Amino acid sequence: MRFYVPEWDDNVDADYDFIHDEHSFLNPSERDLSYIWDIFGRETTPIDGVLISREQVEDTPAKFDRITQNGVYNAPLLDIPEWLPTISDCGAWGYKSLPFPPYGNEGMLKFYEDLSVTVGVTIDHLVLGSGHTARLYIDDRAFPDGFKKSDLPDEILDQVDVMSDTWPSDWPDYVRQYEPSICDTKDIKKFDPTVFEQRLPALLSDLEAHPHAVYRDDDMSFRYELTLTNAREMKELYDEKDYSFRLMVAIQGWDARSYAEATKKVLDMGYQYLGVGGVAGSPEQAVKDYVTAIGKSVKNFERSHNTRIDTHVFGFAKTGAFDTIGKSGMTSFDSASMLRAAWTGPDNYHLDSDQRYDAIRVRYPPNTANLQEAVEIALRSQEMLCALRAFDADESISAALIEWYQSASRALEGLEGYLQSHRHNEQYDSSTLRPIKQAFRDDYQYGEKIRANFSGHFRGQLVKLLRKDDAENPIPFEKYQKLIKGVREVFDDWTPTKLHEIEQREERSDEYGTFDQLWIIVADYTVQIGDEKHRDAYEEMLRREPWTECDCRICREHGIEVAIFRGNNRNRRRGFHNTRRFYDEFERSLPKIAVLTRGGTALSNTDTIEAFLRENRTEFWHKVHDLPVAEVGTVTANGVHEWWDEPPRTISFDPLSMQKEISEFSMRYQGLFIDGGSWTPKEELMDAVRAADCEVHIIDDPDELRTAVLDRLGYESDFLPDTMLQSGLTEY
Ligand SMILES: [Zn+2]
Repeated sequence: MRFYVPEWDDNVDADYDFIHDEHSFLNPSERDLSYIWDIFGRETTPIDGVLISREQVEDTPAKFDRITQNGVYNAPLLDIPEWLPTISDCGAWGYKSLPFPPYGNEGMLKFYEDLSVTVGVTIDHLVLGSGHTARLYIDDRAFPDGFKKSDLPDEILDQVDVMSDTWPSDWPDYVRQYEPSICDTKDIKKFDPTVFEQRLPALLSDLEAHPHAVYRDDDMSFRYELTLTNAREMKELYDEKDYSFRLMVAIQGWDARSYAEATKKVLDMGYQYLGVGGVAGSPEQAVKDYVTAIGKSVKNFERSHNTRIDTHVFGFAKTGAFDTIGKSGMTSFDSASMLRAAWTGPDNYHLDSDQRYDAIRVRYPPNTANLQEAVEIALRSQEMLCALRAFDADESISAALIEWYQSASRALEGLEGYLQSHRHNEQYDSSTLRPIKQAFRDDYQYGEKIRANFSGHFRGQLVKLLRKDDAENPIPFEKYQKLIKGVREVFDDWTPTKLHEIEQREERSDEYGTFDQLWIIVADYTVQIGDEKHRDAYEEMLRREPWTECDCRICREHGIEVAIFRGNNRNRRRGFHNTRRFYDEFERSLPKIAVLTRGGTALSNTDTIEAFLRENRTEFWHKVHDLPVAEVGTVTANGVHEWWDEPPRTISFDPLSMQKEISEFSMRYQGLFIDGGSWTPKEELMDAVRAADCEVHIIDDPDELRTAVLDRLGYESDFLPDTMLQSGLTEY
């Protein structure tokens, strides 16, 4: 079972300076970016693969070129490691309100090949709605100026589902066979607004030949069928060439029956890898029903054809559905919800699916703030951060506040003198702001303290003055003084907030960094910043200190910073941590297990590993081909080859190489079940596997091997979930 994460530029600055809240370099292209796999490394990365949608790759033309020219494993910035499999799809959510997917089959095959992904997915169109939906599509480029979808008469909006979106200027070729009228649009032909004032039948007849409108009586069936037609056509094209990726078919449906029907159809087309689309956002019970129905169809097919089928569930990863996903034989799924939850709402720091906390929001000044407001918010934030760190370290909060105050004072004190003697230095001769900003940060002794304590607004204005100012054409020094005076007006009266009360509490107790001491400043901060509504949640978080209970690499290294809601570098790291915690639950419910047999010289005569297994490990294959959760494959000196793979070019069973490959492989697994009938691995190999914290079982009898795997999963011999039970109908 594999867990994938969709890639949406989820990276952080590897060398972010948390103390001064600054990036390692101001120029993003100079930063060392860390993705989740860079932070955790091969052994503990909490994902088994990456999902890359075309929509994301097309985010900017530069990104598209960078990734299609180099492939996802070599693209600068992204650079996915070779041990992580990749799936690429079209990103059907992105074009859900277009009448057709904007890509053609041939173009997508080329795209996947360019990306060098492990798996490419056929083109699906989301089945939206749950009944036979009449739908009118409108290209919003053709609306008269100022006209919007909501300006359409209610009579129309009530009778048909209207979808307006910006259509592509060129449709792929296949669209011509369905709607030739929308394919020849050199210029935009605007709608006459009076056309929408007619009754529906007259409107539809007027729009029939319009190049910017499409109407369908039963759009749901159209999308369902189009998805299947694409599947058929893409399979034919795929089989004509020797593509390097594996092809997955995406299916759509609206209930368990339609999904099961689609499953049967694509299995008959010869697909061995299914992707269940359109379930993201559906209620958990509904998805369980679909997955159960699909799983039944798949198992029937596997058993009647003595084959194996992999199935991926797109955009769904609820811990409550793990049992169903496992028992129904799904082999992978993906979700970014635990990652994104870190910054999209409350309950954003997870220990597990039940224990979720609210990270403390420490805010940056809004862009609309004036200088004084910005300075005040920046000072308050730095105080909070200082106090939170002292709390986490069980140190005196008052001492930390005093030390912070003194360092901020020094930074402001020294500024005028520094500017006086250095403002005309060479490093400030730049026409753009960023190099000046970087030079100021590096050159002024307290440079990195200016933005953190006195706001980006202040540093920004300072840098603008430096840009204008040069030796030949100096600006009056009073301009700097006036700017600094504006900051002083806030800071000269500043004393660390609630210092006295904190000191008193520290004196009364013989401990430092307690919740009671911290709470004085947190409570005050929430009032000052308007976050009182989060107070109860903060109290729960700070009393519990959940980050001290997490031993993930991020929490160990950054402590309380992960529990602070502030900017990409804290928030996305918290998302990576959430993903790690999710993965722990996933591994407990759906352990990573591989069922392996030794390869043989006959591999050189077969086209696929499956054919080898069927012919040369007949009894083994017969007993394990339909096992859920586990991955099935064969081992050679080149590594583990999964059942669907092609055999390696050179066949060798060199024991040392096999040992090396297996110990690397087992790093990410919890259990290996080895077919003892074909292979008795050496004790060294077993030790290497156990050293990677992976159990190893060698079982001679295939029947016993099957039982052992199911026992390990805690599944009955007839493991498929019961459809009736799933639907809650048993009480009738
Ligand atoms: Zn953690």
